[in-house]
Amino acid sequence: MLKMKVGLLPVREDGARVAAVREALGDGFQLLADANHAYTSSTAIAMGRVLESAGFECFEEPVPPEDRSGYARVRAALDVPISGGEAEYTRYGFRDFINGGCVDIVQPDICVCGGISEVQRIVALATAQNLRTIPHVWGSGIALSAGLHVCSALPLAPHAHRAVPLQNEPVIEFDRTHNPLRDDLLVQPFVLQDGYVNVPTGPGLGVEVNMEVVERYRVA
Ligand SMILES: [Mg+2]
Repeated sequence: MLKMKVGLLPVREDGARVAAVREALGDGFQLLADANHAYTSSTAIAMGRVLESAGFECFEEPVPPEDRSGYARVRAALDVPISGGEAEYTRYGFRDFINGGCVDIVQPDICVCGGISEVQRIVALATAQNLRTIPHVWGSGIALSAGLHVCSALPLAPHAHRAVPLQNEPVIEFDRTHNPLRDDLLVQPFVLQDGYVNVPTGPGLGVEVNMEVVERYRVA
């Protein structure tokens, strides 16, 4: 499974990148795309059709988070599942986001939306509309640990006899660009092995922070 960035180039050029990735990885590989709200709804629909023709399984943040009617228009026009929510706050924001018909996959960021307990409430709202929740994770090793704990505790949605990653089982984003606050901050960094990352088993979030790294990046 791989997620790629779109939205920095014209749709035609991103379309060529999408086709190249699909050709390189083959038809069986699960692909997702993230636009980081780079489009208007009409441009997002054009890009979404490109992603659909390449068999993508998720189109993240096609339009700005505040453009809920745009989200709904994009979702209604496309078959590829729409995801978003990393810039949304608390159960109240997600209530309106979900009820607005914006997304198929709800993506609360634990460090933004109000914490682990608030994610649980947001998951309850999402399941009431038979929507999937995949917590958004970006940033530090501490955030990644929190995301791993939450993801590992979420039930299959919808409930099924078999877990199918992305289809009913949450997955976690494991960014591969260098980030010292993720890769160096923890005494024991996370390791990706065969597509899986172990959930820490220590007390609390299960990670130990390297205070020398904190001092190195301290700004005040
Ligand atoms: Mg994103």
